[in-house]
Amino acid sequence: MRILISNDDGYLAPGLQALADALAAIADIVVVAPDSNRSGASNSLSLDRPLSVSKAANGFYFVNGTPTDCVHIALTGMVDQRPDLVVSGINNGQNMGDDTLYSGTVAAATEAYLFGIPAIAFSQVHSGWSEVESAARVARDIVQRRFDTLEAPFLLNVNIPNLPYEQIGPLTATRLGRRHQAEPVIRGQDPRGREIFWIGAPGACRDAGEGTDFYATSQGRVSITPLQVDLTHREQLASLRGWLE
Ligand code: MN
Repeated sequence: MRILISNDDGYLAPGLQALADALAAIADIVVVAPDSNRSGASNSLSLDRPLSVSKAANGFYFVNGTPTDCVHIALTGMVDQRPDLVVSGINNGQNMGDDTLYSGTVAAATEAYLFGIPAIAFSQVHSGWSEVESAARVARDIVQRRFDTLEAPFLLNVNIPNLPYEQIGPLTATRLGRRHQAEPVIRGQDPRGREIFWIGAPGACRDAGEGTDFYATSQGRVSITPLQVDLTHREQLASLRGWLE
């Protein structure tokens, strides 16, 4: 099996190394990741400049671009053979509910999915890399499962509690929860006295009930949400048609 690995925390991130180490034992891996932390990059492509690829001492390729750039160039000519699976992560912190719209980790997997390749995004619930090795073992467990009863291609969003491997609960199918709106912007001043703004923290959980990713991980379980790309609000089509008449 050939696996392409990317992330959004950059090619030096411990989560990427742990994931690559775990999967190198069971597959032929290629790692193509951003040269710096591009968390929050979502599905952005760099169209205003060329991308350059460098190879690190450990064999990882790093790119002066976004996670989506990395997967895109890998799948459109940079890497010789089409991968059987693309995985992203392990991200430094959760990607649940509305996070998935902003996440570069999810975006890297989404890019592969758009090319018809099965893809999985992995994140740890808490940032800081505690128990990242056990998260990597969970990721390997998932990759080693037989996928033949799962409709392909698939796009799975996985969030793993920061617990020792033996204490991590079962793999659980979930839906995305929802957050409240984000915390207010943080105002400050730059050294020249100009006003600056830092994007605030994500909102607290709003829909975190049973069945959601938030709920499963709060119970120590591994949350797996199948994602899709079509944003069409189908229930609103009839209302829209009526409004247009
Ligand atoms: Mn990140």
